[in-house]
Amino acid sequence: MPPPPKLPFPELLRQFVRPYVRLLSYLKPYRKRFITGLGFGIAAGMLSGVVPLVIKTVGDKVLPGGMGRAALMDAAHQTSGPGIGPVLWITMLIPAVMVARGLCSYVNTYCMAWVSFRILRDLRTQLFGHLISQSLDFFNRAKAGRLISRVVNDTRMAQNAMTSISGDLVKNPIAVLTGAVVLISMDWKFSLTTLVLFPICIVPVIVFGRKVRKAGKAEENEAGTMSVILQESFSGIRVVKAFAREGYQTEQFAKSSDEQCRNSMRVRKSIDIVQPLIESVSAFGVVLAILYVYLFDISVAKFVALCAGIFLLYEPVKALSRIPMLMQKCMASAEAIFELLATVPTVRDAEAAPALTGSRGAIRFDQVSFSYVEDQHAVRDFTLEIPAGQQFALVGASGAGKSTILSLLLRFYDPQQGVIAIDGSPIQSVTQASLRSQIGIVSQETFLFHDTIATNIRYGRLNATDEEVEAAARMAYAHDFIMAQPDGYNTIVGDKGCMLSGGQQQRLSIARALLKNAPILLLDEATSALDSESEKMIQAALERLAQGRTVIAIAHRLSTILKSDAIVVMEHGRMLDCGRHADLLPRSEVYRRLYELQFAHPELA
Ligand code: ADP
Repeated sequence: MPPPPKLPFPELLRQFVRPYVRLLSYLKPYRKRFITGLGFGIAAGMLSGVVPLVIKTVGDKVLPGGMGRAALMDAAHQTSGPGIGPVLWITMLIPAVMVARGLCSYVNTYCMAWVSFRILRDLRTQLFGHLISQSLDFFNRAKAGRLISRVVNDTRMAQNAMTSISGDLVKNPIAVLTGAVVLISMDWKFSLTTLVLFPICIVPVIVFGRKVRKAGKAEENEAGTMSVILQESFSGIRVVKAFAREGYQTEQFAKSSDEQCRNSMRVRKSIDIVQPLIESVSAFGVVLAILYVYLFDISVAKFVALCAGIFLLYEPVKALSRIPMLMQKCMASAEAIFELLATVPTVRDAEAAPALTGSRGAIRFDQVSFSYVEDQHAVRDFTLEIPAGQQFALVGASGAGKSTILSLLLRFYDPQQGVIAIDGSPIQSVTQASLRSQIGIVSQETFLFHDTIATNIRYGRLNATDEEVEAAARMAYAHDFIMAQPDGYNTIVGDKGCMLSGGQQQRLSIARALLKNAPILLLDEATSALDSESEKMIQAALERLAQGRTVIAIAHRLSTILKSDAIVVMEHGRMLDCGRHADLLPRSEVYRRLYELQFAHPELA
């Protein structure tokens, strides 16, 4: 692989800053709450910094004695302090400041969490909306599990890091700054002696920060892989069971889980090593402090105040040291999210495209060519005119391009050449949603949601009343079997409708299409034969559904081809012939062969 091109520094900086700026743009609607949080963070930081000052003021009043060698030698020296009453009052200043600091800190974290959870919500919703509006070719390439992981895990990781960062970013630098200024102004020599080691702490932060980013990326990738295994195992559970591959799937999962564990450990190791390193450095600071006190005389109040000050500095420094690592983690997730958000659907509505409404259902394919993969035509030079209200059947061997024709009419893909028009207007000139609202589909793979029967039928028209749902079910010969279910229309159909038979699922999908009541109907007939009772009912339901509509059927039933106004014979993406059954049979060899194989003896198909 060639080495990546070297970028000039300003461009590198821009690339580094861009995701941060982008993430910040999500703050906009919540800026009031964010600024309130910042305000309380600043207050908490400043209060934290002035604690030693308060301790010293109180100490000076209550414990005016000295410490160190000089003071020890003068051990006999005694001073009588103020009475216990005023002492109690004055010492109360210390908890008062600490309580105020705690309150400000709480409001700060509350506001920041409030804001970052809302950013998470917005980002997730935007990401989902963006993904679901991608064209089908995107989903052909993407793994569903990985997409789920992006929407669930990556957004959460970005948000987690953001919560910590936004809570720490203002409060802690202020606490460190005010704390350092107060300490230095109190006794700069003591402070410098004890703080001289602090800058050393930056080294592990930088070194381990890099490791966190790398391991964090690997951690997320593996989370995606795990999600893929989960999603595929559960949605493909029938195949898993049928092949008795529970052990194999578990092994795959265990492998991913193991890798996940190793990556998480790498991240944790790098994050957690920093704190003990800082603590060890601070221990040397304690040595220096004691030596200083031993050598130079210092008052008790000052000593306690300085120690408290240094102790209070420790927490914000520790939190600040975590920030670069959290930022690295946050950015690893944010970059992955923004990369997905940058993908543009290949099929897009034309600008200011009008809606297609009340279509008659006249369809025209004009020299349409389409390939999924470059130079491998799935449909080639396809020209066909279907007058409104007519029923056409597509026949051809598997892979001849029949399903592709339906996908092209639905505009799941745009053809590389040619035009498809409905009522004379090219489908690319109207909105996709309105185009699809004019087309009903009953396909051999019915997809039912894990929900009630009524909700599944209503998917055809969301605002349909209960009466309309029932009427559609009656027309689709589904009402009787629905009423025989334990909860009637409110029976849950199970995952992908697994509680219902294939024939029952088909009738629900016909009811769905009836409710949609679109002028064009696409039928992908089931290849597998159902029992004759089911078959008859489906047949009758489909006939009702087809009435008065333009129909394109991928035909597998003899009855369909016999009653079709025209049969389109396809081979290798081309139309070989088109005509009625009686005309085609004597003139088309391909049709005759297909007919013999698929239709004349369906039990052999
Ligand atoms: P039919 O419905 O007649 O069985 P299809 O329209 O499904 O045929 O397929 C036509 C051709 O396009 C086949 O060669 C098939 O392999 C190819 N094909 C179908 N779907 C895809 C896809 N999503 N990606 C790549 N090639 C595809």
